[in-house]
Amino acid sequence: CFITFEGGEGAGKSTQIERLKSRLQHLAQPVLVTREPGGSPYAEELRAFILGGHAKQLGPFAEALLFAAARIDHLDKTIGPALKGGIHVLCDRFADSTRAYQGSLGNIDKGLIDQLEKVTLQGVKPNLTFILDLPAETGLARAGARQAGKGEGADRFEEEDISFHQSLRQAYLSIARSEPKRCVVINADQDPDEVETAIWAALQERLPQ
Ligand code: C5P
Repeated sequence: CFITFEGGEGAGKSTQIERLKSRLQHLAQPVLVTREPGGSPYAEELRAFILGGHAKQLGPFAEALLFAAARIDHLDKTIGPALKGGIHVLCDRFADSTRAYQGSLGNIDKGLIDQLEKVTLQGVKPNLTFILDLPAETGLARAGARQAGKGEGADRFEEEDISFHQSLRQAYLSIARSEPKRCVVINADQDPDEVETAIWAALQERLPQ
């Protein structure tokens, strides 16, 4: 199965991906964890370029094209071969991030984003997408604490103000409403153990083994 995780800053995607990976491995299921932007050597190079702040100068559409280019390589080199080999793929962000960040927040026409997505994905779609939802303030506070702990600076996307993150949340909720079969909204404003349980329950319900 191809499972993607989406959400704003500090939603806990990486923690939950690791937890789901462990649960699946306990059941002797092969799992690959990957991320976007990135997930293949060339896509990781594009990630460094995009998150380094250079892509911002090009505007949201050119930025969406760079994310798409990275995604094509990621699908080709990493996701596609794993799925063909019967390995579950857990991906930290995927095409919904482009819809939310470059589409909704970058004000790119939805028709254009849909077309770009179609040519990029070539029919590959996640079987299930978990949208980790929490108030923007809570997510930013968590992300801020994490960065302070690591001594890292904010990347260019994390410099945006609170209204940006509130709109991002709404963009994800709107994606979930438009594709209720694929998307499950998970309340991420609770203890990580409870989030893990909610994700596992939704997985059993949507994709019984
Ligand atoms: O999930 P992670 O924090 O690694 O994502 C890196 C950054 O890239 C995020 O801050 C997110 O805002 C940004 N991003 C984006 N558009 C995408 C995917 C990620 O702006 N399509």
